[in-house]
Amino acid sequence: MPDTSWTDQPTCPYCGHIERDAWEIPFDSIDGEVVQTCAHCGEDYHLSRNAIITYTSEPLKKADTRDAGSEVQS
Ligand SMILES: [Zn+2]
Repeated sequence: MPDTSWTDQPTCPYCGHIERDAWEIPFDSIDGEVVQTCAHCGEDYHLSRNAIITYTSEPLKKADTRDAGSEVQS
């Protein structure tokens, strides 16, 4: 039984074929479910995409540049 949970690429649960063109799969949204046909063995299987979205923010301008020793002053 191939590992088919939380994989980086869709993996066929029948033969273990890894789908490398996952970006072509027409999910309805970032998270979605489709019936995917394995390109290797031709079996249909249920495929869900689990999107993990994170955010990173930084100030555009540092409030206090005296502590930023590596910044180049013009
Ligand atoms: Zn397959």
